[in-house]
Amino acid sequence: MIPFIAKAEQLEQKIKEWETLAGSNMVLDHLIAYSGHKVYAITISDFTVPRTKKKALYISQPHAHEPGTTAGMVDVIEQLLTGKDLLGNPCQFDREKVLANTIITFNPDGNPFGRANSPELYYDGTKYTPKQFQCLIFGEDPDNPGERWKRVDLWDRRDENAPNPIGIVYEPIDEFRYVEPNRSQLSSYFKLFYQMDDQYQYEYWLDLHQMMFLGQGEQDSGSTCQIFMPLPDLVVSPHGDENLAWAAEITQDWLDNGFAAKAPISTPYTDIQAEYFRRNFREIHKRMSRISTEVITNRAQYPVEIQVKAQSSAIETTLKRLLAKNVEA
Ligand SMILES: [Zn+2]
Repeated sequence: MIPFIAKAEQLEQKIKEWETLAGSNMVLDHLIAYSGHKVYAITISDFTVPRTKKKALYISQPHAHEPGTTAGMVDVIEQLLTGKDLLGNPCQFDREKVLANTIITFNPDGNPFGRANSPELYYDGTKYTPKQFQCLIFGEDPDNPGERWKRVDLWDRRDENAPNPIGIVYEPIDEFRYVEPNRSQLSSYFKLFYQMDDQYQYEYWLDLHQMMFLGQGEQDSGSTCQIFMPLPDLVVSPHGDENLAWAAEITQDWLDNGFAAKAPISTPYTDIQAEYFRRNFREIHKRMSRISTEVITNRAQYPVEIQVKAQSSAIETTLKRLLAKNVEA
């Protein structure tokens, strides 16, 4: 099986290896989360080529319970820096051209506190039912045993009868308060993005996620991956057309690689969750193209390799797309 690298100590070991062989092609930044964990931004490019001649892409993952996103990023970083993937197979793209035509920043582990408290390296459906997995993600509601706790952008320990342990989706930002990283600007996920965006002014942002793709009654829906695009009211020209074309290209490549991909959709939230996205991403969507992957997790019917390979495939397609766009521009 492909090495599954998702825990902070595994990632830090990999970063040490990369630092010794990357030469001037890798720049490492980080911020320190309230928990004391380092949250890394790994930027890769041929830095002898000026920024103005390149496209800049940000790739991130906010959710501690979605470790296949981290593992997929590590597989692509390995290719960018060594010319081979984690299994030793040749690089899936023209590495020299990608380095010369793009700047790519990876935030492979957006909430290392949550990831450190994640009981498994990955979720393959053999240990947690969908409901148990939800309780791991959001915490088990003390007032409704067996049910998951609420999903909010920000909560304060002093105001809540909070789960014990708390859900691994949340990141502590001070002594009392917790956020879901992609729903509050107070998260390390957002702070690191803005810190890096000041340096590189990204034109593209690929956010990586995982979900269970449950059918009715938690049955197998038969799908393993899908692209979520921004809420319709957040789409601004020309990024809307670019998002559509980009999403279609990833989806086609997934299908060509044998993944049971569903057609891209707009982010399907309608309730307060949609409001969180409006608050946090409206300005960002005005400036850049931004889409999200969703890849299957915690389903015993599907081998865990899908979690890594569908993510790395989405990134590889994106690199090829940016390369083609930059060369034709
Ligand atoms: Zn997610």
